[in-house]
Amino acid sequence: MHKWIYAFGGNVTEGDGTMRDVLGGKGAGLAEMSSLGLPVPPGFTITTEACRHYYANHLSLPGELEKQLLAALRSLEATTGMGFGSTTSPLLVSVRSGAPLSMPGMMDTVLNLGLNDETVVALARESGNPRFAWDSYRRFIQMFASVVLGVDHYVFEDILEWHKDNKGVQLDTALEADDLQRIVAEYKTKVQEATGSPFPQDPMFQLWQSVRAVFDSWMNQRAKTYRNLHGMSEASGTAVTIQAMVFGNRGEDCATGVAFTRNPSTGEKALFGEFLINAQGEDVVAGIRTPQHLTKKQAAAENNRQPSMEQALPEVAQQLQDLANRLELHFRDMQDIEFTVQGGRLYLLQTRSGKRTTAAALKIAVDMAQEGLISEAEAVMRVPPLSLDQLLHPTLDPKAERHRITKGLPASPGAASGIMVFSADDAEAKAKKGLSVILVRIETSPEDIHGMHAARGILTARGGMTSHAAVVARGMGRPCVSGAGELRIDYAAQTLTVGSRTFPAGQKITIDGATGEVFLGEVATIAPRLSGDFETLMGWADRYRTLKIFANAETPEDAATARRFGAEGIGLCRTEHMFFAEDRILPVREMIVAESETRRKEAISRLLPFQRNDFADLFRIMDGLPVMIRLLDPPLHEFLPPSDRELEDLARAVGISMMTMRQRIAALHEVNPMLGHRGCRLGITFPEIYAMQARAIFEAQVRVMRETGKAVVPQIMVPLIATGEELRVLKTLIADVATEVRSEHGNHDLPYIIGTMIELPRAALRAGDIATDAEFFSFGSNDLTQTVFGLSRDDAASFLQSYLARGILAKDPFVSLDQDGVGEMIRFAIDRGRAVRPEIKLGICGEHGGDPDSIQFCHVAGMDYVSCSPYRIPIARLAAAQAAIGADQH
Ligand code: PEP
Ligand code: MG
Repeated sequence: MHKWIYAFGGNVTEGDGTMRDVLGGKGAGLAEMSSLGLPVPPGFTITTEACRHYYANHLSLPGELEKQLLAALRSLEATTGMGFGSTTSPLLVSVRSGAPLSMPGMMDTVLNLGLNDETVVALARESGNPRFAWDSYRRFIQMFASVVLGVDHYVFEDILEWHKDNKGVQLDTALEADDLQRIVAEYKTKVQEATGSPFPQDPMFQLWQSVRAVFDSWMNQRAKTYRNLHGMSEASGTAVTIQAMVFGNRGEDCATGVAFTRNPSTGEKALFGEFLINAQGEDVVAGIRTPQHLTKKQAAAENNRQPSMEQALPEVAQQLQDLANRLELHFRDMQDIEFTVQGGRLYLLQTRSGKRTTAAALKIAVDMAQEGLISEAEAVMRVPPLSLDQLLHPTLDPKAERHRITKGLPASPGAASGIMVFSADDAEAKAKKGLSVILVRIETSPEDIHGMHAARGILTARGGMTSHAAVVARGMGRPCVSGAGELRIDYAAQTLTVGSRTFPAGQKITIDGATGEVFLGEVATIAPRLSGDFETLMGWADRYRTLKIFANAETPEDAATARRFGAEGIGLCRTEHMFFAEDRILPVREMIVAESETRRKEAISRLLPFQRNDFADLFRIMDGLPVMIRLLDPPLHEFLPPSDRELEDLARAVGISMMTMRQRIAALHEVNPMLGHRGCRLGITFPEIYAMQARAIFEAQVRVMRETGKAVVPQIMVPLIATGEELRVLKTLIADVATEVRSEHGNHDLPYIIGTMIELPRAALRAGDIATDAEFFSFGSNDLTQTVFGLSRDDAASFLQSYLARGILAKDPFVSLDQDGVGEMIRFAIDRGRAVRPEIKLGICGEHGGDPDSIQFCHVAGMDYVSCSPYRIPIARLAAAQAAIGADQH
């Protein structure tokens, strides 16, 4: 016969803590605690498999379940010496849900089941406490009616409130047995009215209905939303645990509460939690009475004048502390415990790993390793890498009030408030006056960099997770919400409209770049704080990881931030980002519109000193660490001025007419610039540009080598290569410049390394040929995702959301690498490349370099490094360590 039920807590305990998939978290925890001999009320668990059966068979329960449940109930009666439905010594049970992964509060629970008009009298007599018996019955009717019969629980609360008002009392505990008896009568009438049937009196019927209700609650809207939000699967189903009741509401020596074995917000090693005397579980949550604290210290810290458990129930408090220690030792993690005290005796109803803030997670992991409870490797595995964002950026104060106006993509984490401005120049001007601004744009372009820098945060109506706004904001560590599609931005009118509401420039808003939410007005934030535990854990992580962690950085500021966070080099310096500063944009524009080679060369020669200084700065800051410089990549027309006035200025500066200027611009216009005249195609058609960049690199190298007396070995990276021939042409061009610079500087030795980005499917397919000339491959996974999917980086946001909502794609492929498709392309290129050049260095520098799942892929694929924006460096270090430890364990 198939086993649908596992008993615990009596003479036999059939399951254990490893059986979460079968018994759910709660059932497995109870089984484990029972086997340890801890005080757990006996009961049994119906497996998650029964739930799956229920859904697979048109909501019918397995045939064998009835017999097994009756047998389990009989043995529970024998263990407790009570009878289910007995009119002398009635056994009452709780019916609770419990999925393999915890979903706190999402599903339904019924307590005090087994009460009816007769057993309530028996309970009153047997306990010698009629108030308790009637209180339990009214609670049961309320819960059963709302969970199983679908009667709104407000109906019952209104009745309860009316009786309290009538009696002039505030607390439920002030109601006496006869008040409660009257309330029960009114509750039953309400049930009859609402359902057309009397309140069910048969305990067996009550039990079966409740089991079904728990299974049904697996698919309620709350639970579905929770699973969606947390990326949890629907397939597992929930278990149902049926357990003999112990009562926290049976008198003044009874209580109910929750305890964390360590403080879940700070991680401090001290019992932390709350309890209520003479109450049942839901009272703690309902918030009618203010709970008391467990320890004197916690009560003092939170200014709670009520006696703590240490004072009110000292023996129980000591016992709870002892059990907390035992549970931690056994489960080797911070536990979140539910308990009940009946007649001065402590019972544990649940234990699970406690949810915690990132700061607490770090402290607990480090402390536990130092206490010898877990290994350092386990400590490293305990902190989710992405959660480190909470520590690196300001976050919204969870207690602050907020009014959300819209939601976009969580493009760059951190929260920021400020007044709205609609142009980069305004952002800069207002910021100079000391105002906090949020730059709001339909989308940003490289022209907006100065404004993005001046702003506290960036909000755009268009653009995905690798849009310009998102990439640049992440690099700068500025919070950013991109692709907020509901926004209508009118630059001329200087207004922002969402639905029927319009807001002018100067309106204060707050953005949360970690969730994509936008709020009206200022929402208070909490400043980031890095503790010593952070450094300790990162140090351990570094010992385990094998991937090197590089930064995507081009400004001295970004490079310095990257080093502070532990970057071991620069994996991508996007040189075009260096072209936008105010002092160089004019020669850049002149270079683009120049009609003759001479004029172009003249403009380019004015750019040389800037680039040389930029590279020298980077070499100095990185102090001998690798610096991978990518030659100019984006389409040229991106650099051209958007307004007619600026165009006229440019025409004047270059000495051409407006008509010629317009012709030049029309000629540069591209229908599909992402696949147009960009990357190495620019280097091939305008060799002067790449030659200037190469010269700037080598001259900076000479300068810094002379200054410091240390070797500098630049790594030059050619973007958007499709064929080996493109690379060969450009490699020769760079080598010629190197020879020139060498001879100009007394044949100074100028070592350098040449590699390529792999960003196009053809380059991946021809990686063997390309590897003959490339000493490294840097996978540009942004473009590779775009080109493998045939999905425009700039336009995909508008439809990707519906793909994700419908589950056609599990994740945004621009955020987390599509391991099956794009990943396959990368694996293929790695094989081909290594076959030709076994020592070739391999890494990734698209946005995926900062995504933990993608980093794990890179580790398994055998790459040497990942490169990501500076604020992602700690996340990448931790994720790389987890990938290495995880791979070791398999
Ligand atoms: C890439 O394509 O992944 C890359 C790093 O280059 P960019 O984002 O600048 O195109
Ligand atoms: Mg690219």
